[in-house]
Amino acid sequence: MITRMSHLFLRTLRDDPADAEVASHKLLVRAGYVRRVAPGVYSWLPLGLRVLREVERVVREEMDAIGGQEILLPALLPRDPYETTNRWTEYGDGLFRLQDRKGGDYLLGPTHEELFALTVKGEYNSYKDFPVTLYQMQTKYRDEERPRAGILRGREFVMKDSYSFDLTDEGLAESYRAHRDAYERMFQRLGVRYVIVSATSGAMGGSASEEFLAESEVGEDTYVRCVESGYAANVEAVETLAPEPTPIDGLPEAKIHDTPGTPTIEALVEWANRAGLGRTITGADTLKNIIVKIRQPGGEWELLAIGIPGDREVDDKRLEASLEPAEVAMLMDEDFEKYPFLAKGYIGPKALLDNDVRYLVDPRVVDGTAWITGADVVGKHYVDLVAGRDFTPDGTIEAAEVRDGDPSPDGAGPLVSARGIEIGHVFQLGRKYTDAFAVDVLGENGKPVRPTMGSYGVGVSRLVAVIAEQHHDDKGLRWPAEVTPFDVHLVIANKDEAAREGAETLAVELDKVGIEVLIDDRKASPGVKFKDSELIGVPLVVVVGRGYSDGKVEVRDRFTGESREVPTDVALAEIRAAVRG
Ligand code: ATP
Ligand code: MG
Repeated sequence: MITRMSHLFLRTLRDDPADAEVASHKLLVRAGYVRRVAPGVYSWLPLGLRVLREVERVVREEMDAIGGQEILLPALLPRDPYETTNRWTEYGDGLFRLQDRKGGDYLLGPTHEELFALTVKGEYNSYKDFPVTLYQMQTKYRDEERPRAGILRGREFVMKDSYSFDLTDEGLAESYRAHRDAYERMFQRLGVRYVIVSATSGAMGGSASEEFLAESEVGEDTYVRCVESGYAANVEAVETLAPEPTPIDGLPEAKIHDTPGTPTIEALVEWANRAGLGRTITGADTLKNIIVKIRQPGGEWELLAIGIPGDREVDDKRLEASLEPAEVAMLMDEDFEKYPFLAKGYIGPKALLDNDVRYLVDPRVVDGTAWITGADVVGKHYVDLVAGRDFTPDGTIEAAEVRDGDPSPDGAGPLVSARGIEIGHVFQLGRKYTDAFAVDVLGENGKPVRPTMGSYGVGVSRLVAVIAEQHHDDKGLRWPAEVTPFDVHLVIANKDEAAREGAETLAVELDKVGIEVLIDDRKASPGVKFKDSELIGVPLVVVVGRGYSDGKVEVRDRFTGESREVPTDVALAEIRAAVRG
């Protein structure tokens, strides 16, 4: 079928949408691919829907190739299964909840582990049925706190989610590997530059987990890598390389000093260097104690103290990931009033431990390290308070920021950071969900076995934005061949009747050999048409223009910007070669 611009439901815009900050958002709206309906809720117009379908096709082909079987579960789900796994509560405000006319609770599915486990339980009951991998291409709903950048972070979005069911851990490892490989092929075909990072497991519970991050300055995920070893990890997943504990014997005794006006690390370090302690003090020699309150799902708020070296800040995302699924909140002034033992600016380990506040420290705070830290009285600090001698924390926590230059956890060299957008996630769930629903099948020896699960997601609609983000220039989009809405954008830039007919004939010929053509047959100036073709971003633009009377058409490559004249009689063959190449 040939698509005509004169009929296409498309209006391109000259100006960027007011709410758009990132290039893909601006361009996808300006080029008429998507339209905003509500925050994080978008309509797909013809061009956008074509790209979305192409991404789906590639994802589907790679899923089918590893033996995945496509099904489609409802997006509208009853509360019950999510109550069983406690995710009705754990998901918090992120869940769209609704009621039917009888007052029954429902939700719009944010992800479907529960339903897949129940579906397999309903159909399969023998070890002979396994392994099995099921997937769906489905609209998901999450009431994101900050919907962002158009379809990049929507509240309604398309995800490919798959779930593997195996009887053994080795089987699960194999299914995981198959998905990981399939994702690599997928993203390569889609023309996405990406890295694979080890990830925290998040609210799902379970073990091995990796994320695929598209490299992008506008990404919300920060990851670090070590050039020397190839180690790469989400910042949330970085485990601090802790020093070895050192002997405590012979360390100087802890002493309380008057340190008036030193509630900040800066002031404290200045004091310490004036106090003549016999060594140069930096923020890294101080231990600052931060108090937050946390609440386990369905529980009460409780205090938590976190001790980290004073030269570092708490990284909220790392803190939250470490405490998940508990909620974290900052302490308010009225909270401080409730706990008079908290001397703001001078909080030390002693008062925390004496008052049964759970106290977790940075992994660098190993036994034998000596710290300058609060003495729990305004204007006083300890010097040489030694971990393992003067205080024993309740454990460690990964909450401090990771910095460029920090040692890689594998000890191979320094870490450098970069930003990315999560496009896929592979995850060995284990038996969390099969346990929750008692999914048992008859084993070979007649005894019941419980399958183990993997769950794997790809952000299908997000990928449209990610590809746009990685493939554009200041004039517009530049789609990779695999996902372009059309193979060829044929622009008629000549009012002459013969040229117009020649273009129509060429379009028919291209169509006959299976090349998808968008023909700009509008009554508009060549300038307007060229601008639109650059904005829309079909990789191959063929112009039937002034040269037509000399027997030539122009073939432009939207990627390289190169253009060449081609004799009309070989145009078909040349275009075919360019499209297939
Ligand atoms: P993020 O950290 O970006 O919120 P997530 O870890 O919550 O993502 P998963 O639950 O692993 O996401 O979902 C699988 C995939 O679905 C993600 O890798 C991502 O590509 C996509 N995805 C998740 N949330 C959104 C969203 N709000 N809009 C578009 N795509 C999304
Ligand atoms: Mg994820």
